Amino acid sequence: ENVKETLGFQAEVKQLLHLMIHSLYSHKEIFLRELISNASDAADKLRFEALNDAALYENDTDLRIWLSVDKAARTLTLRDNGIGMSRQEVIEHIGTIAKSGTKEFFSRLTGDQQKDSQLIGQFGVGFYSSFIVADKVTLTTRRAGLTQEHGVRWESSGEGDYTLETVEQARRGTEIVLHLKEGEDEFLEEWRLKNTIRQYSDHVAIPIVFVNEKGEEEMVNRASALWARPKSELSDDDYKTFYKHVAHDFEDPLAWTHARVEGRQDYTVLLYVPAHAPFDLWDREAKTGVKLYVKRVFIMEDARRLMPSYLRFMRGVIDAADLPLNVSREILQQSRDMEAIRAGCVKKALDLLADLAENDKEKYAKVWEHFGLVLKEGVGEDPANKERIAKLLRFATTQSDEPTVSLADYVGRMAAGQDKIYYLTAESLAAAKASPHLEIFRKKGVEVLLLTDRVDEWVVANLFEFDGKPLQSVARGEVDLSAIKAAEEDKPEEPAKAEEAKALAEKLKEALAGSVKDVRVSRRLVDSAACLVADEHDMNANLARMLKAMGQ
Ligand code: ADP
Ligand code: MG
Repeated sequence: ENVKETLGFQAEVKQLLHLMIHSLYSHKEIFLRELISNASDAADKLRFEALNDAALYENDTDLRIWLSVDKAARTLTLRDNGIGMSRQEVIEHIGTIAKSGTKEFFSRLTGDQQKDSQLIGQFGVGFYSSFIVADKVTLTTRRAGLTQEHGVRWESSGEGDYTLETVEQARRGTEIVLHLKEGEDEFLEEWRLKNTIRQYSDHVAIPIVFVNEKGEEEMVNRASALWARPKSELSDDDYKTFYKHVAHDFEDPLAWTHARVEGRQDYTVLLYVPAHAPFDLWDREAKTGVKLYVKRVFIMEDARRLMPSYLRFMRGVIDAADLPLNVSREILQQSRDMEAIRAGCVKKALDLLADLAENDKEKYAKVWEHFGLVLKEGVGEDPANKERIAKLLRFATTQSDEPTVSLADYVGRMAAGQDKIYYLTAESLAAAKASPHLEIFRKKGVEVLLLTDRVDEWVVANLFEFDGKPLQSVARGEVDLSAIKAAEEDKPEEPAKAEEAKALAEKLKEALAGSVKDVRVSRRLVDSAACLVADEHDMNANLARMLKAMGQ
């Protein structure tokens, strides 16, 4: 067993390594953030497992991350006393990418270095980012609970393969030695390392200790759970730094909300709205998002369970004070207490969005640009909050090509005598605007919502009214605008003309029998001779097209 094995990287890993080494030329220092974040995760995992088995601590409960350099050898060393890894875990975690959305990630790469570099950052470059600055990486680890002779040493130069051997390892946890590439000497400099830690990892909850070449130790970060500190003590920069740590983002967040909630359940919530969509926004399996802690012990990270799907872009932390610490993840999912916390957090998230929509239109336009399609899902997904979500929706209309019109705006400028909110669904804005259904509305000066996203069908199928005004498709059933005065008044129709039209309709109905249900003389057209209309209860043409496209 004790022989040195050589194993090949999974194809995706090779590809990712290649990309990282050749495309990620800015933000090189993020490798440090990634390695520290792994060490911090390892501490979280140890604390969680030790709840059921205190022996895992091996009498060492003071969890830390140490950083040191050897200028002569040109190495940078990171060590933690977290959970560590078994040989099998090393093979599974370091050498393969288990992340969901990997395919999606590769398919989105453009070859444009600037764009790809952003994407790589979002993907979460993780452990492999070591190779941005190192030409050789040696990782030595021992899992908590295993004996000394079960240490494992992994080594690679980041090309096709890596070696693995079993070693004696007295210390629990993981040590990573980066042999720096030519030209990366800045990462041997104490000031550069400290600045990077303060920029990206200041709020890692355990101490990050710099050990100088004389062996003196200095704690570099604040090492306090930021969310547990009073708001009054925190600056915007504190919140931004913490965001970069939890969301693995280079960019600042758009907005955040931080609250301590007391009531049937006591908990603290800190939620952020990112400034851009993550690469895996449309990946059903993606789970990074909101982290759950109980009394500052990490329990799980799973956006789908802690936040409804339509808020899956939110990032942050929920820390519950009253849940039992030894709760299993399974029980947690069904717990009523957890339900209450989740509902409270959803409310906070919606409050934050509503506040932006109300008070910072520019920022809200960005929220809508990146997450509007996702938020729209909420109208159907979350009946309890339907009203509040409806207020957040923005649409293009016959008066605005940009999706900036809220339902409240629409209702506020409804024509005298208008009692419905009219909408038209179509495949594109151009198609919508060319629709003959709009003619009478234009003539009467009645605004119509133009819905061109697939998810809009789902919105109108679930949102029946807003502010007491029913939503009505302009392409369905009878449209009666007679109560609304036109800009120029209709002349009363001549009886002879009406007779003529009726006779024509009869003839057309005969000719089209089998293809259409009915032919009617209509008051909805102004310039066009005829148009197709769906019956009030029929599936509308756009939904029919959509279902067909989905293969149903
Ligand atoms: P991610 O952190 O997103 O899972 P990484 O590439 O950063 O991806 O790390 C891959 C995996 O390797 C981690 O999920 C973890 O299981 C393992 N790992 C990495 N670093 C450590 C460490 N310092 N201690 C224990 N396990 C680690
Ligand atoms: Mg990681």
